[in-house]
Amino acid sequence: MKLKDRVALVTGGGSGIGRAICERFADEGARVVVNDVRQEAAEATAKALGAGARAIAADVADSQAVRAMFAVIDREHGRLDVLVNNAGVAMGPGDDRQATMRKGEARIMEMVSGQGVQTHWDVTQSMSDEAWHHVIGVHLHGTFYCTREALKIMSRQNSGAIVNLSSVAALMGLETVPHYSAAKGGILALTRAVAREVASRGIRVNAICPGYIDTPMTAGISDLSRKLVLGRTPMGRVGEPREIAATALFLASDESSFTTGQWLSPNGGLFMG
Ligand code: NAP
Repeated sequence: MKLKDRVALVTGGGSGIGRAICERFADEGARVVVNDVRQEAAEATAKALGAGARAIAADVADSQAVRAMFAVIDREHGRLDVLVNNAGVAMGPGDDRQATMRKGEARIMEMVSGQGVQTHWDVTQSMSDEAWHHVIGVHLHGTFYCTREALKIMSRQNSGAIVNLSSVAALMGLETVPHYSAAKGGILALTRAVAREVASRGIRVNAICPGYIDTPMTAGISDLSRKLVLGRTPMGRVGEPREIAATALFLASDESSFTTGQWLSPNGGLFMG
């Protein structure tokens, strides 16, 4: 019971990694507040966790909605011990995932054939402002908005742990998602800056940079693209959400009491930094 009676907010807890983190934290005795942009997704997770869990729908990219969510947490619990900034989207409105995958497959075939590459990604030059702002908004602005409100409560307590979901995209740069890579890189820098800022208050801030994890976010990728990822992953498999939840538990609990401003990358060896 590494989080016994601790109040933990997990954003994007209605799906994938966020849901697995909610489940693991509840198993470890936490009182989990499940956030998601969709009420029904948040409620489904909270219901599965049972008594002690609470669902609050809010768009983390909307600072007013985030303020309102934290006001509810403060009113109901009067404290916050753990914040996991997990909510995320892989693409923005108008991004054509299928077209990007088709280009990826064409490039692989061209490379394998040895006749030179004729297919170009051209993702950045054709990206809309809307897609850029959406992805940056959910990840980077969302992490900032939630962190800002969490720190107001955690500073009163002089304790707390913040865990930010970054990605190997921040470490390697993923050519198909420059906005996502930039947002995740920003999250890593924010993690370090805030970790230094609030260490004197007993608040720790760390990040997780997962590799390829089997969740609804990655479900749509083509067989060939999946094989390519596996081919670059020494462990030869994708990760499971519970494996990221285990890392989140470590960073959220007293097990990591001397760890702040760091990132851990459970990625099967895809990136070794
Ligand atoms: P997921 O299954 O799609 O879960 C993300 C959840 O966040 C969804 O329930 C989503 O709702 C919700 N969400 C989206 N926008 C939101 C917003 N503005 N406010 C609140 N909630 C919002 O994805 P996942 O794979 O578990 O990803 C979780 C985190 O891990 C993300 O930050 C992701 O970038 C990161 N990550 C994932 C991988 C991977 O391979 N899966 C690798 C590295 C990092 P909707 O379903 O309605 O959009």
